Amino acid sequence: MTAGVVIVGGGVAGVSTAAALRAGGYTAEVTLVDAGEFPYDRPPLSKDYLAGRATLTEIALQRPEWYDEHKVRLINRRTVSALRPGTGQVELSDGTTVTADRVVLATGGHALRPPIPGADSDRVHVLRTASDADALRARLRPGARVLVVGAGLIGAEVASTAISLGCEVHVVDPIAPPLAAALGDDIATWLHAQHAAAGIRTEQTGVTALRTDPGRIRVDFASNDDSHDFDLAVLGVGMVPDTTLAQAVRLDTDRGVLVDAARVTSNPSVLAVGDSARVRRDGRPLPRVEHWEAAQRDGQIAAATILGTAPPASSAAWFWTDRHGLHVEAVATMSDAETVIVRGELGTPPFSAFGLVGDRVVAAVAVGDSVAVRAARRLIDREIAVDPSRLGDSSVDLKKLVRG
Ligand SMILES: Cc1cc2nc3c(=O)[nH]c(=O)nc-3n(C[C@H](O)[C@H](O)[C@H](O)COP(=O)(O)OP(=O)(O)OC[C@H]3O[C@@H](n4cnc5c(N)ncnc54)[C@H](O)[C@@H]3O)c2cc1C
Repeated sequence: MTAGVVIVGGGVAGVSTAAALRAGGYTAEVTLVDAGEFPYDRPPLSKDYLAGRATLTEIALQRPEWYDEHKVRLINRRTVSALRPGTGQVELSDGTTVTADRVVLATGGHALRPPIPGADSDRVHVLRTASDADALRARLRPGARVLVVGAGLIGAEVASTAISLGCEVHVVDPIAPPLAAALGDDIATWLHAQHAAAGIRTEQTGVTALRTDPGRIRVDFASNDDSHDFDLAVLGVGMVPDTTLAQAVRLDTDRGVLVDAARVTSNPSVLAVGDSARVRRDGRPLPRVEHWEAAQRDGQIAAATILGTAPPASSAAWFWTDRHGLHVEAVATMSDAETVIVRGELGTPPFSAFGLVGDRVVAAVAVGDSVAVRAARRLIDREIAVDPSRLGDSSVDLKKLVRG
């Protein structure tokens, strides 16, 4: 009998590790430690939860009974304060210890506050946790002047939610158009333009200073010398992976806890998954992935490693984002494509775009068309050759193309 597994962090990566261990027949103790009240999902924090359309209970990753039903010991409102690899002990913030022979680090990260003067002020918000969302929502009152810094995924979603709540919204980003690498220039440009169509002011610039005055925040932009007044600012400029525990025990880290393909760190008894982990292939760290499905899959891979079973089949990376009533999904990276085939009419949802190299699909984006994205993923995963003219013909059933 083994001493079991301790999973540090109850985000989607940690909960998925626990679920996959039990689904795979793991019988020893599974302990899940999380700082929060209970494990909840993060994508709704910038969407329905922020808009007040969903409660924390409604965005729980599992029902409360799930943990007992699956014999997962949930230790909430506490953190793991230290690892003691070699002794099998994990120390908790309340001074107690848990014994385990494998530890899975699923610690996620925190929202980046860049070193801009004033970025740490009370009127400057970030969004990573439910309490971040609560603090932000309290200020998103009709008429509130909101500056959103960063128009990638979270910034764009916050802007969309804020305008739907009646705020006056201004979005700045020095990159034009945001998300071009993932979505391709044309769709990224069209998507960014949806902010203006919804009544949001957009500007291609960066922020150089944020000064809090009583009742307002004065913001300096890189593009002009004037100061601009807002009631609050929201930074959507990226996240910082939490590598604290790993660094304390000298695991290999490099802007993420470095892991091999099996999600094992430089210490064989410690694994790492999700947003805090970074896969190293042939000695070189790959770009870190910060998407929901990748974190979920990481948990399944770590569980397979612990169980000694085959990992889930690999699949092209996928993410979604929702804004202004549009549901956007992307597979792989459009900037890898040599040619782009549009199915439907770009700008009139539902439509999709497939990125090709030769006769192989390498990436895809769809707006309101999940079927196209699912088909693209199969075409990529199975390396199926396609006829571009049939791919772009909306009357041709994509399922037929997937069958080859
Ligand atoms: C606002 C927002 C919207 C998003 N929207 C989308 C989207 O639309 N589509 C998409 O694909 N992805 C989206 N994402 C990204 C996706 O949610 C993340 O990739 C995913 O949550 C990563 O999961 P994780 O388990 O690795 O980390 P996290 O979800 O960050 O979970 C880590 C957990 O570990 C806990 N923890 C950390 N240290 C300790 C410790 N020492 N002891 C105990 N617990 C600890 C933390 O409290 C936290 O609960 C969004 C993210 C955010 C923040």
